[in-house]
Amino acid sequence: MSKQSFCKKCNKPIKFVLTKKHKFMPVDIEPVKSNGHNYLFNEITEQFEILPAEQSGLISHFATCEFANEFRKKPVNRDK
Ligand SMILES: [Zn+2]
Repeated sequence: MSKQSFCKKCNKPIKFVLTKKHKFMPVDIEPVKSNGHNYLFNEITEQFEILPAEQSGLISHFATCEFANEFRKKPVNRDK
């Protein structure tokens, strides 16, 4: 499940993916290839995972947004 949107900060197209923890997370539209250490959203398992090299996944927009520092200023809501 996903819905397309635009980042309110940088206006880049993003989409929200629903993780298995029932949290919507903004990711970039274009899949990227893992270098073996990337923490990417796997659309098959519907969760963020460290994907093997060459496997494609969606990167969290927080990782690419030029305004990410502003996101980080917000208090973090931890589920647990
Ligand atoms: Zn952004």
